[in-house]
Amino acid sequence: MRDVSAGPVHLERRSFENWSRMIRVDDVLTATPKTEDEALSIVQWAADQGYRVRPVGSFLGWSPLAFVDAANIIAIDQSQMTGLTGFTYEPVPAATFRAGTTLAEAVKALEEIDNRGESEAPGWAWPDYPGIPAVTLGGMLAIGAHGAGIRQRDDQADLFGTVSNLVLGFRAIVSDGDTYVIREFRRDEPDAAALLVHLGAAYLLSVTMRMVPNSFVGRKVEYPNWQVAYAPAAEKGSIQALVEEHGRVQALWFPFTETPVVQHFTDEPFVEGPRVTEPLTVRLSPNLPVAFTTAYTRLLSHLPWITPLVERSTLSEMRHLSPPDAEWHGTTGNMLLYVQRETLRVVSLAYAVHARRDQVQEVVHALATKFDEMLHEYAYAGHDPITSCLELRVTDVDRAEGLGIPGAVPAMLSAGMPINDSERVVWFDLVTTPGTPLAWQFYAEYESWLWTRFPGYLRPEWSKAWAVSPDGPWTDTVILERVRQAISPAVQTWDRLDSKGVYGSPLLDRLRRP
Ligand SMILES: Cc1cc2nc3c(=O)[nH]c(=O)nc-3n(C[C@H](O)[C@H](O)[C@H](O)COP(=O)(O)OP(=O)(O)OC[C@H]3O[C@@H](n4cnc5c(N)ncnc54)[C@H](O)[C@@H]3O)c2cc1C
Repeated sequence: MRDVSAGPVHLERRSFENWSRMIRVDDVLTATPKTEDEALSIVQWAADQGYRVRPVGSFLGWSPLAFVDAANIIAIDQSQMTGLTGFTYEPVPAATFRAGTTLAEAVKALEEIDNRGESEAPGWAWPDYPGIPAVTLGGMLAIGAHGAGIRQRDDQADLFGTVSNLVLGFRAIVSDGDTYVIREFRRDEPDAAALLVHLGAAYLLSVTMRMVPNSFVGRKVEYPNWQVAYAPAAEKGSIQALVEEHGRVQALWFPFTETPVVQHFTDEPFVEGPRVTEPLTVRLSPNLPVAFTTAYTRLLSHLPWITPLVERSTLSEMRHLSPPDAEWHGTTGNMLLYVQRETLRVVSLAYAVHARRDQVQEVVHALATKFDEMLHEYAYAGHDPITSCLELRVTDVDRAEGLGIPGAVPAMLSAGMPINDSERVVWFDLVTTPGTPLAWQFYAEYESWLWTRFPGYLRPEWSKAWAVSPDGPWTDTVILERVRQAISPAVQTWDRLDSKGVYGSPLLDRLRRP
């Protein structure tokens, strides 16, 4: 196939495959700009020639946020547009990165910046973020990514929401009439609200984000009885109580097992003794090469009845990696990045459920008991559609006022944006292996219950599976229509800032169509 040029920039044809291996696209015209001006000339060329442009990060997500075929697409490889470009201390601590920077690169660079005695831990950090080192800042901000954690002390910034709420400003390529230009956006500008989470409707070149002094954390993993962890009320040992006590908590419950895996990271002073000095040293799940996970998925889809057995051995493996009496200590950067690429390739139904702080346990209890009830019903009928687990994390809602910037606008499409009186977000993932019989039906039934149980207090996690019908994710027309209406306030801004329709994604196209 012939290679072509976009103006002065060379294009080559490449293949892309997402992490779960559910999307694969070959022969995509791809540019690798080294400078903002090169990126701008690609976008202008694409606008003039009728192409669409999609920057690609690490292609980790599940939903079709980039492309599903190569027709009229120019992919942007951002591997030459990475790194920290500046840090300022006033009026609030802020770091600027190119958008192709990965989380691992960013947290490492931040630990090396002098924090002027703000903390005994080295440098700066974000309060919480996803556990996967390879994710890029551009990819995280497109979907409003989250980690786990709540604000526990008055001396902490009120910023334990999504990473999109930490943005103070960004540079993006947008249209001005028929011409595309590089424009600087500040967090107090109304237009920024629609671009802080944009689902593929923008191209960010760099981003300036609010920082907090880094901290040391201690990690422990507990294996409580499920009836205590998911109890109806917030008693001792319940997830709500553990979140209040430790701040950053993650719970995984494998079907038909008695003890969920509850991992927590607690802020602490420097602790003498063995320390974690690299990301991915602590891990929840074992390393599994792709060949193994392919065979495993195939095996479970043909013999789903062995699922309970497999679940129990997964739990034993986790106990082996993280015994209940072990402790780990280190900086946030070395401790909070613990999800390796080479692990079981799964898919997740994922939502954010909003609640007041005193309602967290009620939400957790409802999510877990429904999960368990449905598993038993399906098992009784001879089906095991969930081969992994129910995963839960809790954060605060996004608080734009926590940034310390007068007039900061909210991230309009962030799943963490407060709803009515909500204070906390319970993020859950219902995880299985793609191809498992009746998995979509199980997801669809659970999701339909969700909308009835938490009306008005729900948002889907953009990068994962939602609007599931028995045909698969992003196909349930009723839920797609609800979501379409919810995102409609952002659409006008997107259309104005992209007059030639250069940006977009298959997911967005589906949502914009009435
Ligand atoms: C194993 C695993 C664990 C995960 N854990 C978490 C988690 O803990 N929390 C969480 O919130 N999410 C999590 N995710 C989801 C992940 O955060 C999202 O899928 C994220 O969008 C992936 O970023 P990426 O760099 O791979 O971007 P890609 O998947 O390559 O791209 C995603 C979207 O971002 C757009 N994009 C990329 N760069 C730019 C840019 N510069 N300007 C504009 N748009 C851009 C792309 O065009 C696309 O629309 C996880 C995913 C996996 C596979």
